[in-house]
Amino acid sequence: MKNIDWKNLSFGYVKTEYNVRCYYRNGKWGKIEVSSSEYLPIHIAATALHYGQEAFEGLKAFKGKDGKVRLFRWEENAKRLQNSAKGILMAAPPTELFKKMLKKVIRKNQRFIPPYGTGASLYIRPVLFGTGPQVGVKPAEEYVFIIFVTPVGPYFKEGFKPVSMLITREYDRAAPLGTGKYKVGGNYAASLASMQKAHDEGYANVLYLDAKEKKYIDECGPANFFGIKDNTYITPKSDSILPSITNKSLITLAEHMGMKTERRKVELDELETFDEAGACGTAAVITPINKIVDDITGKTYTYGDKPGEVSTKLYKKLQAIQTGDEEDIFGWTEIVE
Ligand SMILES: *Cc1c(COP(=O)(O)O)cnc(C)c1O
Repeated sequence: MKNIDWKNLSFGYVKTEYNVRCYYRNGKWGKIEVSSSEYLPIHIAATALHYGQEAFEGLKAFKGKDGKVRLFRWEENAKRLQNSAKGILMAAPPTELFKKMLKKVIRKNQRFIPPYGTGASLYIRPVLFGTGPQVGVKPAEEYVFIIFVTPVGPYFKEGFKPVSMLITREYDRAAPLGTGKYKVGGNYAASLASMQKAHDEGYANVLYLDAKEKKYIDECGPANFFGIKDNTYITPKSDSILPSITNKSLITLAEHMGMKTERRKVELDELETFDEAGACGTAAVITPINKIVDDITGKTYTYGDKPGEVSTKLYKKLQAIQTGDEEDIFGWTEIVE
């Protein structure tokens, strides 16, 4: 194996040695298989390929100063995958199966876990999809659940640095009663064109408005949105956004730091009143936002070119818990022996 340059890893795919797989056939989950192939033969009429029966998850494992490997809130990911599966009528992997596969894939790929202090971590990608053939529109009768891992560096090379967001009314990501609340690939297909537009115009991502009224903030591409004002952490409540585990954790941390927290509808106009704004998710942890531009009204909301004080405090606190630098009083981490 080539030596990995841990300090210069980007957020991308690096081949590891093993992945784990489990097939759902005849109404039940089979044995866990360990594979060293990056490929999977699939039926040409698989529902994943034709009708988008696919859901995924994303979580991280961190090596601590003590050399131990910590997983962050994995049960939340297991539950969310089950919810996504239910949402698009797929067989849902039980929590126990999720756990066994998760631990196995981490143990099997020990040498790909980035060392402490490099800023890198092991990104874990569970993926579930319909492998059974259907030509009429129907859920598959067979599924595969795979977990692979890949070492990743910080999401942004520059580190913890503010980025800009674009609000556009040319595209929607998810409908109010649609699949926005599930972590399914289809939402991402629906977001690619708007994301491309944002990138082409020099923005890091799109800040989506609610699809029905175009009046409220939904979320930022693959991350949830939050704003800070008057010692309060505010994050949108919406049926078309993905319930982020990072966001949920930040709410708890903010309360623990003596802040008020609100999860409620956030009107577009309220952007003007925030002292800090940010995007949050597993990949980026917290990404501070320095500027939001509305492409119709031309209105620009700015939050300064340095990360805000509260965002920085939350970011450091969350990372300290994840790596084990600070005691985990919330019971969020689990050591993988
Ligand atoms: C995965 C995801 C997030 C972030 O969720 P975390 O659990 O914090 O990683 C936010 N929005 C969307 C659309 C996502 O797919």
